[in-house]
Amino acid sequence: TSFESFGLDPRILSAIARMGYSEPTPIQTQAIPVVLKGGDVMGAAQTGTGKTAGFGLPLLARILPKANTSMSPARHPVRALILTPTRELADQVSDNLTAYAADTPLRVGVVYGGVDIRPQADMLRRGIEVLTATPGRLLDHVAQKSVNLSQVEIVVLDEADRMLDMGFLPDISRILQLLPKTRQSLMFSATFSEEITKLAKNFLKPDPAVIKV
Ligand code: AMP
Repeated sequence: TSFESFGLDPRILSAIARMGYSEPTPIQTQAIPVVLKGGDVMGAAQTGTGKTAGFGLPLLARILPKANTSMSPARHPVRALILTPTRELADQVSDNLTAYAADTPLRVGVVYGGVDIRPQADMLRRGIEVLTATPGRLLDHVAQKSVNLSQVEIVVLDEADRMLDMGFLPDISRILQLLPKTRQSLMFSATFSEEITKLAKNFLKPDPAVIKV
């Protein structure tokens, strides 16, 4: 398979070429068609497998048709939300998404704790469509009304097992309550425990595509 065969938008294919990706990795071959069709995914994948592009490329393609640069900030709601356990991972994911979206009008941003909240709030108010966040800081922004999650179309829980290990389940549950019920949900975890299976049941639609690499 080649990236061209997925039917991704040319503006995303040009970014892939610039990144120097010549062939999709196994997780990308499995995840990209499912995510493009709007399906939910439970993915078992470690970092280093190309999982970020596995969800990131089709996620951008899904929300691309409605992107519009001439809209006012209020009309740039968050449409894709990626939750990560740490700021390092949040930065890494968002840097990748920024590169993948470089030829599109989509606005990509990241928020995490441990740094001044004000520049993040200003950025959110200007309008971000693809937001990567750690759970606690995202809820701070929700409380301050810097961000509204009622228009989210796709949500990703990245490294879900680490998020549970770090005690983020209550925060994640609160965030999920703020999202529309009709949405696409993706979840990635390196390990599978009873807790992860339970989270998947609450978070994903019944019978998600299960992807293992
Ligand atoms: P990840 O597992 O998402 O952290 O990705 C690991 C590394 O592989 C990152 O540096 C990506 O830029 C790179 N990568 C992802 N997909 C591909 C691909 N299809 N071909 C070459 N490198 C890739």
